[in-house]
Amino acid sequence: MKTGIITTDTYLNHDTGQGHPERADRVTVIINHLKKLKSKSLVWKKPKKFDLKYLQLAHDKDYLNNVKDSFPTQGLNFLDGDTILSPGSKEATSDAVGSIITAIDGVMSKDFRNAFCAVRPPGHHAEKQKAMGFCVYNNIAVGAYYLLEKYSLKKVAIIDFDVHHGNGTQNIFYNNEKVLYISSHQYPYYPGSGAANEKGTKDNVLNIPLATGTQSHEFLNAYDSIFKKLKKFKPEFILLSAGFDAHKNDPLAQINLESKDYYTLTKRIMTLAEELCGEKIVSILEGGYDLNALKESVDFHIKSLLE
Ligand SMILES: [Zn+2]
Repeated sequence: MKTGIITTDTYLNHDTGQGHPERADRVTVIINHLKKLKSKSLVWKKPKKFDLKYLQLAHDKDYLNNVKDSFPTQGLNFLDGDTILSPGSKEATSDAVGSIITAIDGVMSKDFRNAFCAVRPPGHHAEKQKAMGFCVYNNIAVGAYYLLEKYSLKKVAIIDFDVHHGNGTQNIFYNNEKVLYISSHQYPYYPGSGAANEKGTKDNVLNIPLATGTQSHEFLNAYDSIFKKLKKFKPEFILLSAGFDAHKNDPLAQINLESKDYYTLTKRIMTLAEELCGEKIVSILEGGYDLNALKESVDFHIKSLLE
């Protein structure tokens, strides 16, 4: 069974400035580790170019024009307090979106069974018309729209296990019954949204707020209601906003997962995907800021995707 790994060196040229937690090393440690595995079951692909119309489905034209005009030719430019652009960001942000599109095409054409996109910048905080929380384009939202438009799917589920609420993804799909957005996250916490009573206008959003200090078993138990909702929705494809910052060693949050919990979580999602959607899963990197925890957690995540 093969897993696609979609990544590129252009991510290293997205410079967020000194001391920024969302840094190039994040992707480097993942890639170096996966290369060392020398697994014949990993299929390496670079992101391809894509039709910009898919970007316009997730974001307003004004916002996209504003971003386009904000890429600096030198130095850094701030889209918000912590979302920073450098000259290399233009290519990196575009490739992050191209990665999920390449991954989806690969799964749909059965080049590989599932895929993981090792990208930066992440995307789930980027709203229809706002950059936020290190995120410029909402990569996974574009992926979901791509499935609806290009492949005419009627039901796509997004599971977001990053420790932060994906306000951007929720914002983009709040009124869209074709997309079920599910998020587990520390709450109350950054970015402030993600209360249990935010359910989407079509009951298509499920937020699972978790208290500071939540332990592994409590976290995994919380997924029972997520899986129930998912079974009822019957998605044709599952996208994962794979942030690994709910790890106990992550400096940006206070949920206490162990690295191996990402194996258990992924395995449970895979079992459901087998039952619901012919195993079609594409996972894309969001957060995760302790390099060693990130490397270990992604390793467990990929191990499970490969089984
Ligand atoms: Zn996060």
